[in-house]
Amino acid sequence: MDTSGVILLVLLLGTLNTVQCQYEESKSEDFEGSSPIDDIPEEEKYTVSALIERANKNAGQELDDPEIIEGDIAVDTGFQNAAPCTSRRHRNCKWYRSKDGRVYVPYVISSQYSSREKAIIVKAMNSFANATCVRFRPRKRRRSKDRDYLYIKSKRGCWSYVGRRGRRQIVSLARRGCVYHQVIQHELLHALGFHHEQARSDRDMHVRILYENIIRGKKRNFKKIKTNNMDTPYDYGSVMHYSRYAFSRNRQPTIVPIPDANVAIGRATQMSSWDIARINRLYGCEAPVLV
Ligand SMILES: [Zn+2]
Repeated sequence: MDTSGVILLVLLLGTLNTVQCQYEESKSEDFEGSSPIDDIPEEEKYTVSALIERANKNAGQELDDPEIIEGDIAVDTGFQNAAPCTSRRHRNCKWYRSKDGRVYVPYVISSQYSSREKAIIVKAMNSFANATCVRFRPRKRRRSKDRDYLYIKSKRGCWSYVGRRGRRQIVSLARRGCVYHQVIQHELLHALGFHHEQARSDRDMHVRILYENIIRGKKRNFKKIKTNNMDTPYDYGSVMHYSRYAFSRNRQPTIVPIPDANVAIGRATQMSSWDIARINRLYGCEAPVLV
């Protein structure tokens, strides 16, 4: 290599290094302190469940907070074993379908957010409109149909109730750690009635849970639920699927896909096509909605 080649190489390496440093900085300023989730392989650190797990270290500990189960699902104390919204017997937690075939979900976004954060939240909400009949739209106070609505607020951590629960319901998206497209989609999917993919009734045919590697006290986060899977296949690419190292106490995997242990799981950066199909099936909007 001649001199100019060497200079070019040095310059290139320098640039790469700067980019890497900036990346580290922007990531690390979101979070404080370290936890087992910080010790997992680099490519697993920014999965939906790793982001949520990191942001939720102190979730559910404010006085007026609901109890948080399964990592990021809010329940009122005493209802920890509430039936899943998507089970056949509990359809009343769905949002209402309007005569025009659409499902309008009114929302209010707290003034805590910056305009940049608000734009990210609204963009994630609008992403549902591209592929489903669900329409998140600002709540109109005087409209009686808007009695039930989502209140997007920055509390401790990222969490949501499962399904519509009546009147105002909080979806917490902490400014620190939760305002990411895939995390917002994940919490909104809970609010629409969906559970985690690895909680599915048929999950044991597709993943193995390694209980010995789970943080003590967090094993309950991996329980199975009698879900209605809407005739959709098990989906490793769902934005609702935990990642391989979710709630690991020892940097070892807690969820391993079977039969092929090397398949990537829980790395979705947006809703999968099966996530979208499930929304459309639950809300009966499979036919294309006319725009
Ligand atoms: Zn969740």
